[in-house]
Amino acid sequence: MSIAEKIEAVRLRMEKAARRAGRRPEEIALMAVTKTVDAARIREARAAGIRIFGENRVQEFALKHEALRGLEGAEWHLIGHLQSNKAGKAAELFDAVDSLDSLKLAKKLSESAQSMDRSLDVLLEINLGDEAAKSGLAPDSEELESILAAAPELEGIRIRGLMAIPPFHDDPNSMRPYFSALRKLRQKLAARSLPGVSMETLSMGMTHDFEIAIEEGATCVRVGAAIFGPRTKA
Ligand SMILES: *Cc1c(COP(=O)(O)O)cnc(C)c1O
Repeated sequence: MSIAEKIEAVRLRMEKAARRAGRRPEEIALMAVTKTVDAARIREARAAGIRIFGENRVQEFALKHEALRGLEGAEWHLIGHLQSNKAGKAAELFDAVDSLDSLKLAKKLSESAQSMDRSLDVLLEINLGDEAAKSGLAPDSEELESILAAAPELEGIRIRGLMAIPPFHDDPNSMRPYFSALRKLRQKLAARSLPGVSMETLSMGMTHDFEIAIEEGATCVRVGAAIFGPRTKA
C-alpha cells in the first residue's frame, strides 16, 4: 500500500471508531508521526492531505528541516521530551510543543517564543501510569498546579489541552482506563475555567490503540507506523 492508501485506511478506522462512540469524525485530527521518516515520504503524506505532523526530537527535525523547505500548510508539533536547554531551538522550529512537563520548561518556552515574536501552542503531558521512566506531569502534582497558576503570565505560549502516552498493554482495550482518566482530568480542568488555559485538545492514541482512544474522547491521534510502516531502530 502507498502512504496515501495507508492514510485513507487509518482515516476509515478513525471514522468507524468515532461513529461507534456517537462522535463526529470531524472532531478528531490525525497527526502523522514522522520520526525516522525522510522528507520525501513526509511530502507524500502532505500531498495525501495530512496537515499536522509530529516529531519527537528537536535534533532530528532540525536536520530534516532544510529538506522540507517549501512544504506548504504543514503544522509541526514536538511530541517527545524536551530538555529546557533546547527550548529556544524548539520554539524556533515548531508550531506547537505537545509535551510540556515542567514549569521551568514552560518559562523557557515562553521567553524564547516572546523573543522570536512567535506564539506556540502547548499541551500538558500527563504521566497517567505513574511510570518513573516516562516524562509527564502527575495528575495531582504541584508541578501541574504551578504551570496552570502561571499560565496568564506565560506570554508566547498558549496551553490548549492535554497529551498522554499511557502504559503499553498488548490488548489495547486494557488501555481504556488510562484514556478515560485523561478525558476526566481534562473535564475537571476545563470546569475550573482557569485564566490563560483552554482544554480543547486531548491528544491520545497511537497506531496500536487509536481506535480505543477515539472511543474515549481523543481529539487528536498520533499515528506513525500505520502510515509509514514499522520503524527500524536507529
Ligand atoms: C512514536 C510516537 C507516536 C506514534 O507511534 P506509532 O506506534 O508509530 O503510531 C505517537 N506519539 C509519540 C509521543 C511518539 O513518540
